[in-house]
Amino acid sequence: MQHLDTSAVHAGREDFLQLGVHASPIDLSSTYPVTDLAVGTASLDALVAGEASAANPIYARLHNPTVARAEQAIAQLEGAEACVAYGSGMAALSAVLLARRGAGNHVLVVRPLYGTSDHLLASGLLGIEADFVSADEISARIRSDTVLVIIETPANPTLDLVDIEAVVAAAGKVPVLVDSTFATPMLQQPLRHGARYVLHSATKFLGGHGDVVAGVICCADEDARPLRTVRAATGGLLHPLAAYLLHRGLATLALRVERAQNNAIELAKRLQAHPAVSRVHYAALGTVANAHLLGSQMRGPGCLIALRVHGGYEAAASVMRNVKLITPAVSLGSVDSLIQHPAGLTHRVLDAETQLRTRITPDLLRLSVGIEHTEDLWDDLSAALDAAHPAVDKAA
Ligand SMILES: *Cc1c(COP(=O)(O)O)cnc(C)c1O
Repeated sequence: MQHLDTSAVHAGREDFLQLGVHASPIDLSSTYPVTDLAVGTASLDALVAGEASAANPIYARLHNPTVARAEQAIAQLEGAEACVAYGSGMAALSAVLLARRGAGNHVLVVRPLYGTSDHLLASGLLGIEADFVSADEISARIRSDTVLVIIETPANPTLDLVDIEAVVAAAGKVPVLVDSTFATPMLQQPLRHGARYVLHSATKFLGGHGDVVAGVICCADEDARPLRTVRAATGGLLHPLAAYLLHRGLATLALRVERAQNNAIELAKRLQAHPAVSRVHYAALGTVANAHLLGSQMRGPGCLIALRVHGGYEAAASVMRNVKLITPAVSLGSVDSLIQHPAGLTHRVLDAETQLRTRITPDLLRLSVGIEHTEDLWDDLSAALDAAHPAVDKAA
């Protein structure tokens, strides 16, 4: 079997030679001519029923070849039969929830997870009843109408790891969805551990350059069909221009993750020794839950670091204000480094009690490490942390 770094460059490009092209053709058609009505009708029926392709794409909400190539590439990287792409990670999660409804509308969710995912589930917006449980409560909390177990690993923002195989065993016949956005297929392939669905906010590492909003679900063919039907009916499409950028970004995924992770390993060590920092959450330091999964479930510790600073909110806000090279912004997985404050931004939608229970406290910062030179990143970060020290003194 091909190595992942080779697949990252070549997957989804299998028809290029035959087409006589070297880059993915961008097909912006919203509609497609139907000269043979019988073929058109059969194609429409097939696509609405969730087939991956048909003789005629009919209409862009049903199929787009540029999007399909990016999907094929991501499926190959995840070791999945299929991938279905959406206009965002949240649209992808919504599609799975809608597709699984019917047999029941109860889901089990292990916290912490991305703030808006938490909000979508807790709000019951889609008619889903979500129970938030710890991983070891899953088997006891499964009901006859439970249709999905949702976990995120590494989890946002504390970077705790969740044991996918243990969750799959506890879930029994109930399918498990893993949000693997933080890991990328380079570091973790949840389907190999028994998960039924893998979710990526492709806005992050898969796109990789901070210029695409996209989401994907990887799964078996039979599970992909209802997802495509939901996409056709609700319209949470990925635009072909975004799909092109996403596919182009994939080519360097292996390189980007390797370089950013090397930076993160070094920065995490240095951060742990910095006097302004009270705690660093990073798997390679053994300071996250289930760090023992490093080397088995996770091939590496990844490119994100969570850190706690002395001086609470004031010190954290001071770091955000004083970084110059690193961008103070939400999101992650870009070539450039980003730092953000989960309690104030990404996890702001959680109520105060949930924030506290999931250890999203005012002193917590989340750093997404990019591919810049390690020393330039450290110069910027350590200067911002040094500048936060007076804020600590003032608060004291
Ligand atoms: C960003 C993110 C999402 C949501 O994805 P969007 O593309 O922003 O809709 C979901 N899960 C995780 C872990 C994320 O980081």
